[in-house]
Amino acid sequence: MADKIRVTVWNEFRHEKSDSAVAKIYPDGIHGQIAKFLGANADIVTRTATLDEPEHGLTDEVLANTDVLTWWGHIAHREVRDDIVDKVQQRILNGMGLIVLHSGHYSKIFRRMMGTNCSLKWREARERERVWVVNPGHPIAKGLPESFVVPHCEMYGEFFDIPTPDDLVFISWYQGGEVFRSGVGYKRGKGKVFYFSPGHETFPIYYQPEIQTVITNAVRWVAPVCGPYTDLNNAPMVAAPEQFTVTD
Ligand code: ZN
Repeated sequence: MADKIRVTVWNEFRHEKSDSAVAKIYPDGIHGQIAKFLGANADIVTRTATLDEPEHGLTDEVLANTDVLTWWGHIAHREVRDDIVDKVQQRILNGMGLIVLHSGHYSKIFRRMMGTNCSLKWREARERERVWVVNPGHPIAKGLPESFVVPHCEMYGEFFDIPTPDDLVFISWYQGGEVFRSGVGYKRGKGKVFYFSPGHETFPIYYQPEIQTVITNAVRWVAPVCGPYTDLNNAPMVAAPEQFTVTD
């Protein structure tokens, strides 16, 4: 890994082009806003990539130089090429971090990494969400109060069809009474995956300081840790130890 954490902020970037209300909240795209607050940290450097760029902006060169990939998608999951999902999956298994946001729960890459449908209940009613920290010692909870409010959200409710998380960090409560595992972490191969649910496109959620703290902390948590075995794709045959060799 380089001195700074190299983050590629990926966005489907369709709502901003077709819905003026979304464009008004995110004039530079959701990716532009996420890259802006992440890039304000001295230890993070960002680039962006979007669906309609060649190879969705995720060329071999970009992926090879990405420590952490963040993913926002909603209406065009099916347009993401399977061969690129394959490459992203292998990069994660070999150490790259992945942060999946909001409606990215249905993205090909998140479902690939989870192995489940990742379905959930949902409702758009401009209701209040309270995000509770249920793992106060976790690095992603650093600097947060025990709970915080998202004034207007899209409700995401249980059952959320994910594997039991390795790290459960946040549980959300909604005005309608539902609860949701809104911040969950996983280890996959050498890599880590974090899913965080707040982030509906018609609300200015990525401008909220607590949300920015969570995503920034998550970048640092999923960032690669240097260890042995540079390529988990490759399982080499190893020589037998010397004492196993018959010499007489
Ligand atoms: Zn939404």
